Amino acid sequence: MSVLVYAENQSGKFKKSTYEVVSYAREVADKLKQKLIAVSINSKETNLLSNYGPDKIIEYNNPLLNDFTLQNYSSIISDCAKSECASLVVLSSTADSKYLAPSLSVNLDAGLASNVVSIPESFSPLTIRRSCFTNKAFNLTILKSETNIICVSNNSYGVKENKSKAEIISKKIAVNQDKIKIESKNKSSGAISIADADIVVSGGRGLKGPENWYLVENLASALGAAMACSKPVSDMGWRPHSEHVGQTGKPVASNLYIAIGISGAIQHLAGINASKVKVVINNDPEAPFFKAADYGIVGDAFDVVPKLTETLKAFKSS
Ligand code: FAD
Repeated sequence: MSVLVYAENQSGKFKKSTYEVVSYAREVADKLKQKLIAVSINSKETNLLSNYGPDKIIEYNNPLLNDFTLQNYSSIISDCAKSECASLVVLSSTADSKYLAPSLSVNLDAGLASNVVSIPESFSPLTIRRSCFTNKAFNLTILKSETNIICVSNNSYGVKENKSKAEIISKKIAVNQDKIKIESKNKSSGAISIADADIVVSGGRGLKGPENWYLVENLASALGAAMACSKPVSDMGWRPHSEHVGQTGKPVASNLYIAIGISGAIQHLAGINASKVKVVINNDPEAPFFKAADYGIVGDAFDVVPKLTETLKAFKSS
């Protein structure tokens, strides 16, 4: 028996969430006293996975797999899980992995739990803590299948280095032309992606217009943070839709989320509840965001943000 972790990459490079999920799977495999097998598809840096503890890495390479498509990826990972006698398949919570999970569940006749936020509470039966109601509550889910699949929430476990001497096995694979054809791909232009960022600085309608976005940009640059925005901001075209966070946008699970001129509507909070520390800058002391925040500054963003940025820059250079 083994634990199998899917090491997802983007354009051949691993993301922080991949190292996190491999670290997580290492601890679970240790608790189960099983081997940890990592599966990598068309990565340019498969060897880096051995920094996070797998016993074996199986890599598949084929130019037809450059684009993620459900049919091929699902069949490769489920075949691998079967041949490695996986009792547990661990995935991250990226869009692709969440898309994969139900298909793997059907192929492997496996139980499935998403939004997993910690190491299982018990292994017999497998009892998993999951977040629910947009991270406002937790539930314990029991999975009773012979094989189970879990999707670990971003930033819930952390990346833990654990160097191993994993053998890397390269497998050739015949791939069918997928039924789904990708016509085009639009990549977000931000230097740091919202999903991977430790710090996110986000702006709302309180910034009055796109010409004032330098406030968000300067603060984000001082902190090495990704930029985000509320829905109306992207609807009005002030910022690209790839930066919109919330119920209908991207989820954020950063260590620090700074909201500038955002009211804190329930649909916005739904996307950022998983962030660890929330800081709000708003000139209305009654703004609902203050109730959800860890720290709040009541003040005009046009006064507060430049002062905060300068103070941070001075602090960093001292
Ligand atoms: P506003 O509500 O206009 O708030 C602006 C804030 O800025 C106010 O609190 C104000 O006090 C403050 N402000 C004004 N001037 C200043 C200043 N000078 N300095 C400091 N603060 C200032 N919204 C999302 O964000 N994400 C979603 O995914 C999302 N999904 C939705 C889905 C549905 C089905 C619906 C119905 C709505 C959704 N919304 C979503 C919209 C949501 O309900 C709110 O309308 C939206 O979040 C408000 O955006 P805002 O806070 O930027 O703007």
